[in-house]
Amino acid sequence: MKTYQTPKQACPVCSHVLDRTMGRDDSTQPVPGDITFCIGCTAILVFDQQMKLAPITPEFIAGLSPELKATIETRHRVLISALRN
Ligand SMILES: [Zn+2]
Repeated sequence: MKTYQTPKQACPVCSHVLDRTMGRDDSTQPVPGDITFCIGCTAILVFDQQMKLAPITPEFIAGLSPELKATIETRHRVLISALRN
C-alpha cells in the first residue's frame, strides 16, 4: 500500500510525531475527513480541513456508515496486532 506524506505533527493523544499515512488504496491520497491511526498509541484519528489530526468523536463515528465502521474496526485490529508482534 502506498504511503503519503502528511503535515508533520504530534498525535493529539500520545504526542508521537506523525508525518505520513497510507491511502485507502494505491491511488487515493488522504483528504480532510479521512481516518488514520497513530502508530504510537493506536488512537483512531481524523484529518481536519487543514490536514491536522484530531481524535475522532462519538458524533463523528455516529455519522459513519456501518460498512465504514466495520472497515475501520478491522484495520484498527490489524494495526494493534501488527504492533504487538
Ligand atoms: Zn498516538
